[in-house]
Amino acid sequence: MNISSIARRIGIRTRSPATLASQCRRRLHLAPPFLIDDYIPRYQTLSSRDEAKKRSLAYAHLRKCNLCPRQCGVNRFETTGMCLIGDKVKVNVIAPHFGEEPCIQGHNGSGAVFMSGCNLRCIFCQNFDISHQRNGMDLTSEELGEWYMKLQEVGKVHNINIVTPEHVVPQVALSILHAKQLGLRLPIVYNTSSFDSLESLVLMDGLVDIYLADFKVWDAKTAKRLLKADDYVPTAKESIKAMQAQVGDLRFTADGIAKSGVLIRHLVMPGKEAEGVEIMKWLASDVSSDCFVNIMEQYRPDAHVGKKKKRNKLGDGVTQEVRYADLDRAVTDNEISVVRHAAVSSGLWRFNESPKHDGFSI
Ligand code: SF4
Repeated sequence: MNISSIARRIGIRTRSPATLASQCRRRLHLAPPFLIDDYIPRYQTLSSRDEAKKRSLAYAHLRKCNLCPRQCGVNRFETTGMCLIGDKVKVNVIAPHFGEEPCIQGHNGSGAVFMSGCNLRCIFCQNFDISHQRNGMDLTSEELGEWYMKLQEVGKVHNINIVTPEHVVPQVALSILHAKQLGLRLPIVYNTSSFDSLESLVLMDGLVDIYLADFKVWDAKTAKRLLKADDYVPTAKESIKAMQAQVGDLRFTADGIAKSGVLIRHLVMPGKEAEGVEIMKWLASDVSSDCFVNIMEQYRPDAHVGKKKKRNKLGDGVTQEVRYADLDRAVTDNEISVVRHAAVSSGLWRFNESPKHDGFSI
């Protein structure tokens, strides 16, 4: 006797199983296209021929590096370009990390690998001791792959999260292929400023599962002043579209852990909320209205913002003025809500924070 017939016998009115299931689905707001039963990382499905092609391409790029929009053209076995990193990666921290989105860090943490060096020079960078000053240890691609295995076997992390990889793409490609041979089974997260070249994203295609991509600013003048890259905006647009074409919208397994797709981050900045509005509109119209977005409010500038100017205009060396004073404050509630409101008005609905409809954004 099933539950429905028992209920009928004791006089309880029930809805049909199909109705119950559909009502449950509606109430939980589970969106089937974004839920997957199981996941195999993309690098696991690469053929040995494709692996060989990627290895060869990676070494070619290292010998003449035009792999990011800086286009230095240097042989990285002999010298360095603007990123100041040669053929070995310089890594600052490798550890389970609990500072990412809940769907990335899960219960065990994300296996973060913080790369030293960067191809941007954001004047507000919170990690400038790593990104601008190159602190860390040098590792070969093989050694890097062995660290991924430690994160998997000892750390039990949910993924391998390469933080600031734009300038070490060939080394990262080689490390993933090496770790595959050692038995790596975790999804790869490419945690980027989006100042990537299409060539490097082609190299990453088939190796990366999740693109965790910033879209920082919208205005070319802002990009030039704050990121020291006046071509940031067109580059980020092109890169994010290429990422979306590779892996699509963010998808989860039933445990709430993201396994594949694009997650866009936007850090709201003081006085720059109008740029955030444009970014949200563009994401909804040109990338996907199902794009998963983290609108971040934790702007805490470091690097050059708020540092004393070296000398005043009279040149006597005594000054109380600070650099980038307009950016030396926290963002206001109003600035954050302007960007959030624009995101919702544009049709975006999958956000990092808890949804208002009492269900999940997955
Ligand atoms: S990755 Fe480094 S060397 Fe290569 S183009 Fe970019 S900044 Fe220059």
